[in-house]
Amino acid sequence: MKCVRCLHDTAAKFAEAPDKSGAWEMYACSRCNFTWRNTEEPEVITPELRDKNFQFTQEVSDLQILVPVPPLKK
Ligand SMILES: [Zn+2]
Repeated sequence: MKCVRCLHDTAAKFAEAPDKSGAWEMYACSRCNFTWRNTEEPEVITPELRDKNFQFTQEVSDLQILVPVPPLKK
């Protein structure tokens, strides 16, 4: 399933209404960690309608900040 934020095929259903009524479903993206419900406004869950400033267009590897581990004390 395509993620609405990063547009990669890395999203899947994460949860659904516990009474199995189908009232809502929740999805999560394993690439950019975005989550959304199927009941949200079209401006949130439709890629073509989303604000471009909120889309995730970077590579995930470019965002990682490795904190250096200081040397052990003697
Ligand atoms: Zn994503």
